Amino acid sequence: MIVGVISDIHSNMEALRNVLEKLGEVEKIWCLGDIVGYGPEPARCIDMVNSPRFECIVGNHDLCILQEIDFGSFNLDALRACLINKNKLDEKHLSFLRSLPRTTEPFPGIALVHGSPRDDVWEYVISSWQANEILSKTKSVITFVGHSHIPLIFMKPGSAAARIAPLFEEVTIDLSRENTKYLINPGSVGQPRDGDPRASYMVLNTREFTLTYHRVEYPVETTQEKMRQEGLPQSLINRLAYGV
Ligand code: ZN
Repeated sequence: MIVGVISDIHSNMEALRNVLEKLGEVEKIWCLGDIVGYGPEPARCIDMVNSPRFECIVGNHDLCILQEIDFGSFNLDALRACLINKNKLDEKHLSFLRSLPRTTEPFPGIALVHGSPRDDVWEYVISSWQANEILSKTKSVITFVGHSHIPLIFMKPGSAAARIAPLFEEVTIDLSRENTKYLINPGSVGQPRDGDPRASYMVLNTREFTLTYHRVEYPVETTQEKMRQEGLPQSLINRLAYGV
């Protein structure tokens, strides 16, 4: 099976549309949460992922809209965006978000979670020592996470310490090494934070157990203009141009 792995769409329809166009006819798309928040088009993004081809889990911004998370943990701009997004959603959209699990195993040995297996919506896994602690305890061969908006692959071979694996665009990585576990973040579709404004995603081949990392351009200015019209915070508008 060929699977698109995406995360952190954040109501950015232009970015999502271009990623889906590039993914083409892949059999499945796994989405690691934060469909909404920050961006201008939450309803359209939910409509685009609300299909049998998608397997989605919930993220902290989705839970914010559902008022199922502590608001005190969000910064003011994120919270303002959450409230603006919420006003654009009807009951059908909210019940879709409500239906999403916090974690799932869409394929044997592969787990999806927004933050990390030990803190499902809040932990940002960005260091090897975090990955090492997590991968020492997890049973899954691959754990896909989102939340940090930074594309990363950590690998832990046997009892050796986890380390970051090099990541190059359009280069296919072999994940079939014996006795090795992986923690992988596909990066963010709608608000990348690694200094590259292009939308980020990955493609997994479950037959060969290989993974390819991709970036795709989208019309950032169009999204920014829509954000202005929605009255979203200026700092959130600015950051899209720089990928921060
Ligand atoms: Zn996010």
